[in-house]
Amino acid sequence: PGVQNVAVLGATGSIGTATAEVLAHLNRVDDRYRWRLWAASGHHNVKGLTDLARDAARFGGPPERLVFSDPTVQSSLRNLEGPLQATEQRWGPEELVGAASHPEVDVVVAAIVGRAGLESTLAAVESGKRVALANKETLVVAGGLVQERSRATGAQLLPVDSEHSAIWQCIADSPNRVRRLILTASGGPFRTATAAQMEAATPETALAHPTWQMGRKISIDSATMMNKALEIIEARWLFDLPADQIEVVVHPQSIIHSMVEFEDGSVLAQLSPPDMRLPIQYALTHPRRLPCEAPPLQRNRRWDLSLEPVDLERFPALDLGFQVARVGGTAGAVVNAANEVAVGLFLNDQIRFTDIVTVCRKIMENHTFEERPTLSTLLRLDRWAREEATECAAGVG
Ligand code: NDP
Ligand code: MG
Repeated sequence: PGVQNVAVLGATGSIGTATAEVLAHLNRVDDRYRWRLWAASGHHNVKGLTDLARDAARFGGPPERLVFSDPTVQSSLRNLEGPLQATEQRWGPEELVGAASHPEVDVVVAAIVGRAGLESTLAAVESGKRVALANKETLVVAGGLVQERSRATGAQLLPVDSEHSAIWQCIADSPNRVRRLILTASGGPFRTATAAQMEAATPETALAHPTWQMGRKISIDSATMMNKALEIIEARWLFDLPADQIEVVVHPQSIIHSMVEFEDGSVLAQLSPPDMRLPIQYALTHPRRLPCEAPPLQRNRRWDLSLEPVDLERFPALDLGFQVARVGGTAGAVVNAANEVAVGLFLNDQIRFTDIVTVCRKIMENHTFEERPTLSTLLRLDRWAREEATECAAGVG
């Protein structure tokens, strides 16, 4: 069999560990490729990353390289023993770029959370890699730039986000015109909450997602529905469709992962249980479908699949998402930065749950918009928006 060398950036996170499971599984069921975990990165979680690497036999042999992107963990690194002796350890954020663009790497799984994933994802695109993209914030911040560069280098962006994977699977290579993308949203933990309950939400209640197990930041994003806002923007760039051809519906069971309406009115949907191993695996093996460890849908009992409209009053993030998707340019970078700061402050009990989106909207309205920003403009605005958001939050908190 051939070999696929995979760099998993953010290997210690929720998507990263699910990806490791998928690689181990593929090594059991795929007779075309050996799936080698060539490089893996973590940030703070030194033990998580070295334990993962120790499981080397499941990942096609010991990894070539481990990257600790947080340079301060250098002192806690130990010499790797036994089969990992040949594994290089590197630290510092620049090493993410080095791994993402290394000539030996075939596929980069971009699973870092937030804007911190931008440089490495962009480096993978610049090197013309196949990029399995979980890190949606990169497209929110710099979607125009990423798409322009991937057209130039031939890099492929393979969606991992379940909604975008669903849309990708529904469109396949259809020559037909898409009329609308219909993103489904679970509605998160506050789908049926009152506005007053949402104002009083604590980090604990906001983190308790009804259908998905995920990292902390995306769990809060799901509760505010900022996650869906980010996904509207992500879809706008991934599928190159204007915002007015994107819709959101609430689907509490998280089984219909999204839908596509074609020109003749026919709507195709992709269904599977809420388990990220399926979209991760499909991004890696596309266009092949192989057996997957995600459990099959249970069909031997009553099956309720419901759809309901979104409540734009209680979830103002959605309107913000559509607005950003419409104007593009620098809007995504500032909203994303404000959101990252506000989510952190909320998790630290420094602002109320409902302040998160208020802060994002203020920052967006106060920024100096540019339609075709360079990367350095985007990075400058990202820093600016973080400072503004911190200040603005001090005012509301
Ligand atoms: P987690 O918080 O579980 O994991 C985040 C990963 O990023 C960890 O490996 C963490 O390292 C690393 N990391 C954190 N900060 C930095 C930094 N400053 N520089 C470099 N690496 C860093 O997040 P998720 O796995 O839930 O999410 C990852 C991405 O995937 C997000 O963009 C999210 O929106 C997207 N996504 C997630 C889904 C899910 O089901 N979880 C579904 C769809 C999309 P360490 O832990 O070692 O500190
Ligand atoms: Mg999603």
